Amino acid sequence: MTLRIYNTLTREKEDFVPVNPGKVGMYLCGPTVYKPAHIGHMVGPVIFDTIKKYLAYLSYDVTWIVNITDVDDKLINKANELGVEVGDLAKEMTQDYFENLETMGVDSIDRFPYATEHIPEMLEMIGSLIEKGHAYPLDGDVYFQAENDDDYGKLSHRNINELVSGERVEAADRKKHPADFALWKGSKPGEPSWDSPWGPGRPGWHIECSAMSMKYLGETLDIHGGGLDLLFPHHENELAQSECCTGKPFSKYWLHNGLMQASGQSGKVGGQHDKHGDVPDMDAQVAGKLAGSAGAESVKTAVFAKHHPETVRFFLLATHYRSPIDFGDERIEETGRSLEGFYRLIETFGRVTGQDFYALETSATREQSTPLDGEPSGFLGEVKSLRDRYYECMDDDFNTGGAVGVLFDLRKAINGFVNETKLDGDGKSDEQNMAAFVTSVTLLKELAGVLGVFSKPVDSGDGGANDELVDGLMQLVISLRGSLRSEKNWALADTIRDSLNELKITLEDRPDETLWRRE
Ligand SMILES: [Zn+2]
Repeated sequence: MTLRIYNTLTREKEDFVPVNPGKVGMYLCGPTVYKPAHIGHMVGPVIFDTIKKYLAYLSYDVTWIVNITDVDDKLINKANELGVEVGDLAKEMTQDYFENLETMGVDSIDRFPYATEHIPEMLEMIGSLIEKGHAYPLDGDVYFQAENDDDYGKLSHRNINELVSGERVEAADRKKHPADFALWKGSKPGEPSWDSPWGPGRPGWHIECSAMSMKYLGETLDIHGGGLDLLFPHHENELAQSECCTGKPFSKYWLHNGLMQASGQSGKVGGQHDKHGDVPDMDAQVAGKLAGSAGAESVKTAVFAKHHPETVRFFLLATHYRSPIDFGDERIEETGRSLEGFYRLIETFGRVTGQDFYALETSATREQSTPLDGEPSGFLGEVKSLRDRYYECMDDDFNTGGAVGVLFDLRKAINGFVNETKLDGDGKSDEQNMAAFVTSVTLLKELAGVLGVFSKPVDSGDGGANDELVDGLMQLVISLRGSLRSEKNWALADTIRDSLNELKITLEDRPDETLWRRE
């Protein structure tokens, strides 16, 4: 089986062959850190984290870079509006972004380069583009000359004459062609600025990504990712300036994830309340689509306060990454309910085997995947064919939605096996069945781990929704047990306490109330 990836550049699914055998360099456009992240900002990181985990599972040595845009029109405007320093606002919002990534289980990014720390690399690139006749200075700004690049438009499959630049309107008249875009912007008084051969200023947004990605990953990346809203003009411009500078292909594969939209809406962009100026805005389109829904609010207050992050991650991966994601509380709640079955299985596993699911050691690579030797028949045969189906899905352009479906099927098969063999009761002593149970559950954990789920107990997170439910259920159990005690039904009251003990929940009877705690 070969991994195939849909490449926006060729509009085809292609076999994945990295530039250097065994190694993968991957770049994802990161956030402009001017406001707290909303759920739309988590889509790309969760998808590409999963892509990295799968590539690592295929034994590739992957380096993944995500930039932080800490100087930009939006950031400057927001800092002015709040009356704070640009650097302080950027620092605070970067921290917020990092915290949200951690909450979402996005733990595989290797480096976060900051735009403000890579100005010399950008200046060098701009200088080289001017030298090669691909850029021209204009009153303190520097523009890329799109007409001089025969390939311009090849990524977004547009003709240069159809293009309307999203760059600053006041400069539009002076540019040689409307598609020309700023590589360097002369600074206005009071704005952050750096010295340059063309006067004090700051870099354009597009050049940041080109300079930082090539610094850490070389002149040709393997995978360049980002939301579909970044395809034009951002990625088109990144590609144009990079290839004109190096004369080499900038990225072998271009992957674009679908955007999040409010459930039931058409996804039409409009009414962006947070769009400043007409600089291409990597957030506004997503936020615009979510405007009026909770999705446009910060992910911490609007989403994590209500849903467990694992549920949110599962929800994001249940759709194919190239499709739009319909965001809605009800849809996430539905996902949460469907996950309960997995948590029950995890609980059953602990009770029946005496082993901790979360401590199970799983194989890090597909090559060494949980052994299902030979051509097993019966239950393990079914498990093996489900694993093959999972691989087929992931090899087919990272079809995580299909892979999630396989996990549900695997759970169903395991539950069926436990029932059939009575492993939870009389059949407990059958060693062969017990071994098959452990093997299948270990594989479930391995495959789920590639998607970044079920790697740690859900109650150890800060997910309020699940804890609230447990709290509510515990109050119910305690009050029922209280009624039994007042009826002097000691036997049943004790059974409840003992059963809770088995679930590692301790009840503490005080004179006027009963408290509970987890071990
Ligand atoms: Zn970028």
